[in-house]
Amino acid sequence: MRVTIQEICKFASATPTSRNFTGGENIIDRGHILNCGNVNISDDSDVYHILAFCLQTSCLKNEPHEINGQITKAGKINGMECTCKAGLGSTCKHIVAVLLFCNRNNLENLKDITSTEIKCVWNAPHKSAFEKYDMRPLLEHNCFKEKQKKYEAKINTKISSNFDNSDSNTSPVEANK
Ligand SMILES: [Zn+2]
Repeated sequence: MRVTIQEICKFASATPTSRNFTGGENIIDRGHILNCGNVNISDDSDVYHILAFCLQTSCLKNEPHEINGQITKAGKINGMECTCKAGLGSTCKHIVAVLLFCNRNNLENLKDITSTEIKCVWNAPHKSAFEKYDMRPLLEHNCFKEKQKKYEAKINTKISSNFDNSDSNTSPVEANK
């Protein structure tokens, strides 16, 4: 069973062009939904207790938003809430993103989160967030590589102009090879 787009729009009082809907789509497409699963309270329950985390796009180092909700096994959304400011009063983009996750994935296939695991889930989002945005030295980034090349070229021309009096036209860098 999947949550239909129709059901999401009805619940979020949105259309696919609404801000929370397009925002939610962006979040899920960027892979900012972490650990979306079903908190396994009892097997005979006819609802899924959805728990998910969502990276704060504006500040990835901050705690991810936590989204909680209830979706029936028939795919009807009973209620959703998010820890962000907008999520307290209305359906924020994080909630829409989680609902879209439940549209793109079968509810039956959501991973089960036992209550003892919730603590681990809390810690995991940070790790995966930082794995995703692995820090690397500035010089490995392309824009800096370009700058460095230009800088080196500048230095080389400076050096070679200092050697203008010599009869060799090769730059010192090449001469060293
Ligand atoms: Zn939110």
